[in-house]
Amino acid sequence: MTDTLRDPATSSDIRRYQHFIDGKPGSGSGEVIARYSPVSGQVVAEYAAGTEADIDAAVLAARNAFNSGVWSDLPGLARGRALNRLASVLRNHVDELIALDAAEVGTPQRVARGPVEAGIGQIDFAASLASTLHGEIHTNLGPDFTGLLVREPLGVVGLIVPWNFPTLILCQKLGYALAAGCTAVVKPSEFTSGSAVRVAELALEAGIPEGVVNVVTGYGNPVGQRLAEHPDVDLVSFTGSTATGQRVLESSKSNLKRVSLELGGKAAQIVFADADLDDAVEGVLFAAIHNQGECCVAGARLLVEDSVADEFLDRLAKRAGDLRLGGPDDEADLGALIHPDHMRKVLDYINVGVQEGASIRAGGGQLDHPEYAQGCFVQPTILDNVTPTDRVFQEEIFGPVVTVTRFSGADEAIELANVVEYGLGNTVWTKNIDKALTVTRRLHSGTVWVNTTIDGSPQLTFGGYKASGYGREMGKAGFEEYTQIKTIQIRTGTRVGKFGLLS
Ligand code: NDP
Repeated sequence: MTDTLRDPATSSDIRRYQHFIDGKPGSGSGEVIARYSPVSGQVVAEYAAGTEADIDAAVLAARNAFNSGVWSDLPGLARGRALNRLASVLRNHVDELIALDAAEVGTPQRVARGPVEAGIGQIDFAASLASTLHGEIHTNLGPDFTGLLVREPLGVVGLIVPWNFPTLILCQKLGYALAAGCTAVVKPSEFTSGSAVRVAELALEAGIPEGVVNVVTGYGNPVGQRLAEHPDVDLVSFTGSTATGQRVLESSKSNLKRVSLELGGKAAQIVFADADLDDAVEGVLFAAIHNQGECCVAGARLLVEDSVADEFLDRLAKRAGDLRLGGPDDEADLGALIHPDHMRKVLDYINVGVQEGASIRAGGGQLDHPEYAQGCFVQPTILDNVTPTDRVFQEEIFGPVVTVTRFSGADEAIELANVVEYGLGNTVWTKNIDKALTVTRRLHSGTVWVNTTIDGSPQLTFGGYKASGYGREMGKAGFEEYTQIKTIQIRTGTRVGKFGLLS
């Protein structure tokens, strides 16, 4: 990271994490990565800088655990009970997980709380699925045949997790992989590895056997890359940028492993004139700034119907101006961006938008925070008069920036929403049920919210259309990603001439 960040106040403020392989901590090469808080500029954590050898050791541990059957051969009910214990242990440590995610992400603890709790909820739900791993019986194949379709765990899975919601995204992969009977090697982001190591330690405490959950911290290359390439990994589930997702896909070709990709987004918030505008103002603002806009389903594009646009924007800009920015311990609505380079990228996008003809309705630049001189704070920003060909309309910014484009009628709104390469999650605000249903069916995205936004429940499957990726997380479909189907065909009795051969 190229910046002017400071040393920590005292070395006791730094949390230190090693890899977690085969139930034991390990420092690997001894090299470490320092995590600088994007709020204070001080070091808040140090992680082991993993190597290819560390990944190889973790994959071997996961393979041995899988082959031993110590996890995959357990009855589903027993795996479910272990996952329930894990959820309970995580709940006992929820404040710790919130504190370390908040410190490493640079977000207020009150913002980090919801996603961490939702992550634990994913483990609860995954536990309930563990005993549902069953197949089909076919007895309609003729009198002497029985067919079985059996669902089996895939094997060793690699879970590559980004920095924006470290605990949540880990849990929405790990819970389902474990429920299916897989064993895992986790590669968290180099910026936010603490919670992944803690979840692995707590999994052991909850009675999940050694080698079932392994974590290797370190840089995308070599650690993530080796995991994606590894010939003994059966599936890689990746969340992150589209560019890195393409690299993961390339790496996975070595052994044709399965790949699940949850990539970027450029979600539209479509506000019709007949919406409850009070709700819509709050929802649009929340979607734009939640987690500093560092969210794959951030409501980055406001599409607002002409007849209410001016009033809506006045109200939105006023509310945006009231938002509080602060550090992990502050009563704030949003925090700092993940690191200085990312902040500069977001600020560049704001400039690009203005050069392309946008006008700034709120925010527009870095915030010189009175308490945090080193803080990577960007003001919640509304860019008005944005057109569909503008870069800020098309490209993922991943910061607290929302573009505004006006439309007239549902057809134009749908066309504008669908014109981007991404298709992750769009939102429709209207009180007209016919319009809501018609529009949701014509939107090209894996999720559509109506009169709510960035909501979720573990039962509800999540994933992308178009460049937002493929594969599904959460829900029954997310669980089945970690399984494969074996077909067993059985012939009973003897039937001469069955194969049509001359005797
Ligand atoms: P990346 O896609 O680079 O990172 C996601 C994960 O992949 C991290 O754990 C990263 O490790 C790892 N990784 C990096 N390179 C490789 C590789 N060659 N092979 C395997 N794994 C790798 O995201 P960034 O952190 O760079 O963020 C950049 C952009 O990605 C954001 O601006 C945003 O647009 C998007 N993004 C989208 C997210 C989403 O939820 N859809 C989440 C996060 C980012 P490491 O962190 O150590 O580099």
